[in-house]
Amino acid sequence: MAAIELRGLTKVYPGGVTALDALDLAIPDAEFFALLGPSGCGKTTLLRTIAGLETATGGSVVIGDRDVTGLQPGARDIAMVFQDYALFPHMDVTDNIAYPLRIKKMAKAARHGKAREVGARLGLEQLMDRRPGQLSGGQQQRVALARVMATQAQAFLFDEPLSNLDARLRLEARTFLKKLQRELGVTTVFVTHDQAEALAMADRMAVMESGHIRQIGTPAEVFQRPANTFVAGFIGSTPMNLLDAVVRGDTLEVAGCKVPVPVSARGLLTDGEKIVYGVRPEYNAYSAEPVDGSLGGKVAIVENLGASHLVTLEVNGVAVQTTVPEGDEPEVGAEGHAVPRADRALVYRDGELV
Ligand code: ATP
Repeated sequence: MAAIELRGLTKVYPGGVTALDALDLAIPDAEFFALLGPSGCGKTTLLRTIAGLETATGGSVVIGDRDVTGLQPGARDIAMVFQDYALFPHMDVTDNIAYPLRIKKMAKAARHGKAREVGARLGLEQLMDRRPGQLSGGQQQRVALARVMATQAQAFLFDEPLSNLDARLRLEARTFLKKLQRELGVTTVFVTHDQAEALAMADRMAVMESGHIRQIGTPAEVFQRPANTFVAGFIGSTPMNLLDAVVRGDTLEVAGCKVPVPVSARGLLTDGEKIVYGVRPEYNAYSAEPVDGSLGGKVAIVENLGASHLVTLEVNGVAVQTTVPEGDEPEVGAEGHAVPRADRALVYRDGELV
């Protein structure tokens, strides 16, 4: 097993697109690390550059104590599963899973035994004699996963490996994959554009934008304390309220209302300063009656989220969202008040967390 370290890693494609802009990243041994970000931010390029399938135009990739920047993919001792998993059509599932072990010259009985063991853990035991053409997309994906897991590589690289599974299977696969990664203790880099997946699975994660890493942290850190307004707006199943505000002593003036300065920003702000006030809908309480330190207005929209409702209030022309437990949701047009939690609200100055 091995740590992965990227130093000033840069990738400029021949057309001139800078897909990775001098990235520094250290992933300790045995960590499950997720790369998250919008389409085109450079996630796949980063993974392919670690794997050696793309050549870095600057910087270095270190795996364990080896600088592998100049090495071919096969010499890097890592295993990768792609979005478009490549299985051998003429081989059955057992042979597909066992293929990397055959390359490593493991005896047939031993490699088939290993393939069956890993296949069973991925629910493939009934399908071991079939060929890829006789499997559904999701089943093929599980074979590709099994093939990676059967290898004893120093690190696993996954590029959206669960994207072809249906919602239920995807949840099962994610729990399974996390558990297996723990047991195997193999350093794993996992690319996804599904933030729920990243939050649920990762020990730590990076949020990328346009070839840059905007934040690195545990899922809790990234969710509770987004380092900048980009991450704040990107993470969360319902986006964070990011509202223009002015500092007025120990209160903030937000959409014509007064709310207390968040705990984390106390003593750090200047009177009269213009900042952005951030609070997740989940960290607003809802009140039908006026409350001190709340944002009051008219209920504009009520959206059903299942166990809760997302209520959009129009507060002096500014939209403020708050979640309300199912059963307590107001009628559209009613008067309503979002009461932010001062211990969870945040302040951003020039886009960066205060
Ligand atoms: P997605 O989530 O859509 O898969 P991504 O975050 O994985 O996106 P990349 O595929 O790494 O993004 O692409 C990063 C940038 O590099 C994009 O602007 C993309 O258009 C560009 N790019 C990717 N591959 C090439 C290539 N072979 N030649 C030129 N530009 C490329």
